[in-house]
This record gives sequence, structure tokens and C-alpha cells, in this order.
Amino acid sequence: MMVVFTALLPTAENDDQLATVLGHEMAHALAHHASERVAREQSGANILRSLSYARMQESEADHIGLFLMTFAGYEPEQVVAFWERMHSGAGAHGRPPEFLSDHPSDEHRVRDLRAWLPKAKAAKKAFDGGRIASGR
Ligand SMILES: [Zn+2]
Repeated sequence: MMVVFTALLPTAENDDQLATVLGHEMAHALAHHASERVAREQSGANILRSLSYARMQESEADHIGLFLMTFAGYEPEQVVAFWERMHSGAGAHGRPPEFLSDHPSDEHRVRDLRAWLPKAKAAKKAFDGGRIASGR
């Protein structure tokens, strides 16, 4: 998480991609992923199960982070552009297969983000148009 954060920041090529990284990291914090991880480790879960769970948290952070940056007024298309850029970069070589990694594969991540993109845009449009109440 924090390690990933510092590794990802230099890859951001504009404010929207910076918001992508920040949104992803804020999503980990909001979803209490660190404490979930500690609890899981203390429960003695086996390594493959832990990796699978970590990938689920990554995917959840991608999903929440996309909505956070979109609602903050950044360009959600840049989330996909950022991860495609990561995928095409030097970091893409020599990665372990997805089931041995705590991160989803880049293809998987980009595919999911593309699927969520229209929903994030529609939600922001509805919010801007006053069709989603703030809850107050
Ligand atoms: Zn993450």
C-alpha cells in the first residue's frame, strides 16, 4: 500500500493520474484494508488465500478510488490511461502469475476499470444534476 504508493506516484503524468493514485490509496484507508489484513494474518489464513484476499482488496480500492477521484472532479478516463501506462512500463516484466501475486494482473485491472467507468461517470452526472441527494 504505502510501498505501492511511492512506486506509483512518479508514473502519474498529469493531475488526473495523480488523483488516480491518491484515490486508490484513500480507498484502502476508508475501507480499513490494513486492519482487515492484520486480522486475517492473525487468523492464520494460508498464503494463497491471503493473496487472493489481497487482490480482492486491491480491486475494491480501484473501484472506490475511481468514484472518489471522479466525484472530486477529475477525469475518470485517466484512471484507465494510468493503469495502461503502468502495464506498458518496465514494471510489467517478470511479474509472477496473478494467483501468486497480491495484485490483480494489469489486464484484469484495466478490464474491471473500463467496466466501472460508465457507472462512475453516470453517478457524477446524476450528482451534479442534483439527482443524488447529499444525505443532509
Ligand atoms: Zn493498492
